[in-house]
Amino acid sequence: MSAGTIGRASGPLVVLDADSTLILEEAIELLAEAAGSLEHVAAVTERAMRGELDFAASLRERVATLAGLADTELAAARDRMTPTPGVHELIAGVHAAGGLVGVVSGGFHELLDPLAERLGLDFCRANRLEVADGRLTGRVDGAVVDAAAKASALVEWADAAGIPLHRTIAVGDGANDLQMLDRAALGVAFCAKPIVRAQADVAIDRPDLSGVLALLGLRG
Ligand SMILES: [Mg+2]
Repeated sequence: MSAGTIGRASGPLVVLDADSTLILEEAIELLAEAAGSLEHVAAVTERAMRGELDFAASLRERVATLAGLADTELAAARDRMTPTPGVHELIAGVHAAGGLVGVVSGGFHELLDPLAERLGLDFCRANRLEVADGRLTGRVDGAVVDAAAKASALVEWADAAGIPLHRTIAVGDGANDLQMLDRAALGVAFCAKPIVRAQADVAIDRPDLSGVLALLGLRG
């Protein structure tokens, strides 16, 4: 998963958003359900993904509702995350073509890392939840992975792998994906919010990530 271990890649770089793209859920909602703040968190997430709220501020507000949650709830949330159909086919197809696949998320490493490893993803970047004495503090540890940070990750990973930007593709559903969709050679709106559909180069409306292979010319 470390950029330092990646050699020069001959194929494309595909960068996926996590929540409602790599997985079917919004991961923070799985934690909010356990914390009793689901209704509020789901409403704020919906508005943030539609581009109506500042992402970083809205994330801090949502994470604050998780204060006091036992860190054992992280494993329970991980168990409920569902990989989006077609993701195995997409990753295998990109790897077979000499390319790399990364995931960048406004969600959390604590939930995403085991899945990213299981799926064989080459890069993974997300926020970290602060934990003290076995409980979430309700704070994010470090800078928030926002829209600008997602775009930066794409550029950084392409550079690390020696992949020119014209061979990059970004896939996401929310307003915080717009900058990385714009930065990639091809930005794909995946079962996306209206603002993302309107600004992306192309839209996939079926919840099947293998559809990205056709956009890459990797499926006849
Ligand atoms: Mg998303």
